Amino acid sequence: MVAGIDPARLNAVFEREYREFVARTPKSAALIARARDVMPDGVPMAWMAGLFAHPPICAVGGEGSAFEDADGNRYIDFNLADLSNTIGYGPTAVSRLTAETAARGVQYLMPSEDAIAVAEELKRRTGFRFWQYTLSASQANTEIIRIARAMTGRQKVVVFQGKYHGHLDTTLAEDGPPDALGLAPASVRDTVVIPFNDPDALRAALAGGDVALVMTEPALTNCTLVIAEPGFLTDAHALSRAAGTLFAFDETHTWQFAYGGLAPGDGLTADFLCLGKGLGTGVAFACYGMTAEIGAFVEDQLESISRDRNGLAIGGTLFGNALSVSATRAGLDEILTEEGYARLARLGTRLADGLDGLIARHGLPWRSFRLGPRAGFCLTPEAPRNYTEAKPSLDRSFSAARRLFMANRGIWEAIISAAPQVGFAHEAADIDRYVEVAGAFLDDVTGA
Ligand code: PMP
Repeated sequence: MVAGIDPARLNAVFEREYREFVARTPKSAALIARARDVMPDGVPMAWMAGLFAHPPICAVGGEGSAFEDADGNRYIDFNLADLSNTIGYGPTAVSRLTAETAARGVQYLMPSEDAIAVAEELKRRTGFRFWQYTLSASQANTEIIRIARAMTGRQKVVVFQGKYHGHLDTTLAEDGPPDALGLAPASVRDTVVIPFNDPDALRAALAGGDVALVMTEPALTNCTLVIAEPGFLTDAHALSRAAGTLFAFDETHTWQFAYGGLAPGDGLTADFLCLGKGLGTGVAFACYGMTAEIGAFVEDQLESISRDRNGLAIGGTLFGNALSVSATRAGLDEILTEEGYARLARLGTRLADGLDGLIARHGLPWRSFRLGPRAGFCLTPEAPRNYTEAKPSLDRSFSAARRLFMANRGIWEAIISAAPQVGFAHEAADIDRYVEVAGAFLDDVTGA
């Protein structure tokens, strides 16, 4: 139930728009039908079907802020591939530079100069001293946890309710029953999940002196948006340090929110920093930064043929490949610039102001989420401070009907757990179009 919305009316909009969506996407439907012969749900990766309450569609190309589906429908993209394609669609300076690298060779299992330049730039922007690369943030967080466990000699990991840190066993705790998720129950036994913005809960979790790592996003972005209360993150790091526990910021998403990420910009410190998604410009790249002390530990503990011993289980054949680091370097140099982020912030304010205007016009007891480029429908009068308070904004029927209504009018809406977010390719006209269509949706579902 969403405050101010009649569920029967919402459902009628959903059903009408669903029929319209199916009528507009016959070529995608034929491709998915063909794919069902070889892939569950007709998709190469489960989320491509599971994230939506409508049939999946196939993309064929894009330009700037919009992409086209197999039926020639054009969508201005406000999901940005769940923040893994914040730069928008080629051709851009990035795709040109990346194509030049690809023409020479994509993979050597050796460092390239681009790999070094990327680490130098990340160090400059974040202050983190040493870096390692992976191909996904899930893998980066896996390695962070392994290093933290090896370094502290402890097993437990603390995360916050409403978190998502990737598809690694440890942090999937509480996302469902382990056997249904396909996890060994033992793999989540050492995970402690506590409420965000609750220093007492953190104090209690750390009291046993047996926690290897506390991991959090600086603002929770996977259960709508939960912003840290003043002082919470500084205290969380200080409490961790006092307990001999390492502390990691996962800025996989929030790196797209502010130049250098949210945490360093707010003067926050940590022992590890995980980055990924849009940093790789849509090419598979993720990485983690660490302090000098942790870097020295990693150097000392690495597997080494010359020392004839097994070491820390980190690394993978394709990690740090020439293509992914070239794309990342080009993105940092050309698009993820200080000016680029300043523009994102301005357009993000325009989007959140637009949504607040619509909410006021319809007299709804809601507000817009707002943090840099992120906006969205907060379906409660106050911004949530934790997952429990965020849950009312995760209403499936509201999100599913809105998504279809907007798709049928050329807007690719964000997935339910996120919200519309501004990317580097958006123009003011894209934002205004989003607000216009969202306004028509609210007119429809409120009968205004
Ligand atoms: N950390 C955070 C905060 C994320 O939001 C995600 C993905 N939504 C991940 C890690 C995992 O990223 P990937 O799917 O690239 O492994």
